[in-house]
Amino acid sequence: MLFYSVVGENSSLYHSELLEKSRQWGFLIPESMKRVNSINKIFDFIDFWETKKSELPYEIDGIVIKVNSIKVQNELDFTAKVPRWAISYKYKAERQSTILVSVTYQVGRTGAITPVANFEPINLSGTIVKRASLHNSDQIEKLGLRIGDYVYVEKGGEIIPKIVGFDKLRRGSIENIIKFVENCPDCGSKLKKIEGEAQHYCKDENNCKTQIIGKIQHFVSRKAMNIESFGSERVALLFNKGVINNIADIYKIEIENLVNLEGMAEKSALNLIESIKLSKKQPFEKILFSMGIRHVGETVASKLANHFGSIENLINSSYDDLISVEEIGEKIVNSIRDYFNNSKNLLILEKLSKVGLNFKIDKNNVRSNVLHGKIIVISGTFQTMSREKIKQLVLENGGKLSSAVNSKTKFIIGGQSIGPTKNEKAKILKIPIISEKDFLEMLNT
Ligand SMILES: [Zn+2]
Repeated sequence: MLFYSVVGENSSLYHSELLEKSRQWGFLIPESMKRVNSINKIFDFIDFWETKKSELPYEIDGIVIKVNSIKVQNELDFTAKVPRWAISYKYKAERQSTILVSVTYQVGRTGAITPVANFEPINLSGTIVKRASLHNSDQIEKLGLRIGDYVYVEKGGEIIPKIVGFDKLRRGSIENIIKFVENCPDCGSKLKKIEGEAQHYCKDENNCKTQIIGKIQHFVSRKAMNIESFGSERVALLFNKGVINNIADIYKIEIENLVNLEGMAEKSALNLIESIKLSKKQPFEKILFSMGIRHVGETVASKLANHFGSIENLINSSYDDLISVEEIGEKIVNSIRDYFNNSKNLLILEKLSKVGLNFKIDKNNVRSNVLHGKIIVISGTFQTMSREKIKQLVLENGGKLSSAVNSKTKFIIGGQSIGPTKNEKAKILKIPIISEKDFLEMLNT
């Protein structure tokens, strides 16, 4: 095991020093690590290991370039998913050619259709590969593939193989050119393309078997409603036996429905019933994520739940209400409105609400109503509290967060070096900028 980072409180140190320290303590760290002080030296390092990487006692697919100062790292911070102070450089992947046999289409739980290329198996960096995603119709068109083509397959940094082109001298016949399917391979409904998105969708979400099963599997999964003893195969079995037809039916399951099913002993049936009951305690933001609305992942679900407070508010929200929520773009807004415009979805929500699921933010997390209905923007860096803490305080006291300054903004909580655009807009619109200290005083009154 090779260690690549030391986590600690002392921010006056440097990443490379900390790693050196851990080497002295007896841990293994990559011998190839190097501290450099210019962009050219970084490229020299990349080039050096491009040719030497095969001599390493382990396989690498690239290198990581990091900011050395922990203090600067802390300032740069993270996006929702990745650090802003580190970036990876991936080396060109190994490539093989093989014959393209067929293209099949998969239906995802949100109705997205993914074309998959099936080819004669090849050995790519030690594993046998026989299929690769073609992602969408644009990609198919761009590649211009025909069945019978000799295609080049690469395994990139994410270990996922992909087709990067074909051998121009060994082509399949022109009548075998791949055309994207027009109908859903599962339910047969006509596929639609959503403006601004590359994917085709089957929009018959409540009649398309693969989608329904996928939605139920997502709903019960660990990060969603976390219903234990309810694996993917069991979901499919209960669906195929007609016990459940949608996510709301889960809460109608009774022990008699289960005991006669194959592979289901009484004990495990009881466990399932118990964990279904337990799941009713999940908080609103988890339920919102579990519903499986296209593009609404965990982060977005939690933002929406905090912003709107209840499912009613969310259902009744306008385009403008939605787009004003921090980090919610047009694609997400359209998907949310699409979902709530479908009466079948509303019916399912109603059923879920009747069995006691929690469609409101838990009031126990609310401290006060001082900021009720106020739209607040946070900008700059802060001394006494983290930005996350300030956000939390805004939400806990009934406020709403927005990333953009506009006429609706009540005030800006400003730290050091407020964004210039925000500053300018605040001046024009005469929106007050208050300090973190003012903000805390406001909450105390
Ligand atoms: Zn379908």
